[in-house]
Amino acid sequence: MDNLLSVDDALRRILDEISQLPSETIRLEEALGRVLAQDVTSEEDLPPFPASAVDGFGVIVEDVQFASRQNPQVLQVSMEVQAGDFVTDVLKPGHAVRIMTGAAVPQGVTAIIPIEQTDADWEHKSSQVNIYVKAESGQNIRPIGENIQHGQTVLEAGQVLRPQDIGLLAALGVAEVDVIRLSHVVVISTGDELLEVDQPPERGKIRDANSLTITSLVNTYGGVVTRLPIVRDTPQDVRAAFEQAIAHQPDMIISSGGVSVGAVDFVRSILEEVGQVHFWRINFKPGKPLAFGKLQNIPFFGLPGNPVSVLVTFDVMVRPALLKQMNKPDNVPMQSAILKESVNSDGRRTYMRVKLESQDGQLYATAIGSQSSGALYSMVIADGLLILPEEITYASAGESYPVRLLR
Ligand code: AMP
Ligand code: MG
Repeated sequence: MDNLLSVDDALRRILDEISQLPSETIRLEEALGRVLAQDVTSEEDLPPFPASAVDGFGVIVEDVQFASRQNPQVLQVSMEVQAGDFVTDVLKPGHAVRIMTGAAVPQGVTAIIPIEQTDADWEHKSSQVNIYVKAESGQNIRPIGENIQHGQTVLEAGQVLRPQDIGLLAALGVAEVDVIRLSHVVVISTGDELLEVDQPPERGKIRDANSLTITSLVNTYGGVVTRLPIVRDTPQDVRAAFEQAIAHQPDMIISSGGVSVGAVDFVRSILEEVGQVHFWRINFKPGKPLAFGKLQNIPFFGLPGNPVSVLVTFDVMVRPALLKQMNKPDNVPMQSAILKESVNSDGRRTYMRVKLESQDGQLYATAIGSQSSGALYSMVIADGLLILPEEITYASAGESYPVRLLR
């Protein structure tokens, strides 16, 4: 076998060629799941004014220092503040203000007594209230800047925005954010045998499963896709498709099929002609023929045609590149599992489709019957991909291996 590149070397060489995309400014409502390009510093205090934490009565603590249920303190209710109001009057000794949760606390008020600790109810508003408890200064008042202070860094560059982050930014009046641009990927399927999904069956033809698989994979990691029409197996068609792909000025181009050594496999030769091939053979199963290169500085992945190879090579080679472009964390779910039965391998790094079962807190893996790289259904029923390292030709029952979970 002439020089097959190891999976790790291939991945390193790919990532060396990938750079992070520039940032763009978007509206906050579009920002969920996006990666912040800059730290966000608050330009406001939160809360922006002293606010009541309860429904109750604002008082002056000295006025209620002897209050108890046996000996209530009576106060005159001379003001009322709802959430959203702003009252400039100052509370006078012997008086109380009826105040709602979230309302701005008037000057002079030093504590809020919850309504439950008074004789009041909101249905029968009276001009007096009996206070049953004393209070500490500041009780039930949220001070200015209690949550966030002006000038504070609240979110850092590189963070993936979650619902609570969006909520906080909204609270701070941040209507636009700078985020890393989404990767725009052009997807190409090659093959004379291919039909679009909505075309009627024809003898000798199969439906194009790969372009929607790849589209879904790119979408899973947040990229956006332009799909080109199916490309026939001629040098002219492949060349034209590449030119069309370049015209979109995408951040990445991914093709499937036509990358092996068959009589009509033109992807690699046209890539060499129009751009550059960095490598195309990896010590890897399924998916040995995977061309990586550049089309006018755009990273290009020529994935094999077999649908299982597409899924596996994307996961191992393309996903890290896509995530690097968008500066997203790589959280692939991994577990260890014990082989239930012995398996043979051929010395390549092998991603074996397995069913998993859990017994006494241990995970056990059984290889799925068909490991053919054309058997897309095996990826539908598999629970994971068990990874057999290079150089192994036989793995015994009872040995433990890493598994990339698929559910
Ligand atoms: P190739 O790499 O072009 O030699 O294709 C390898 C195998 O994958 C052949 O059996 C093809 O029919 C199949 N194949 C190629 N492209 C697709 C596709 N887009 N959807 C489903 N199967 C495909
Ligand atoms: Mg083909």
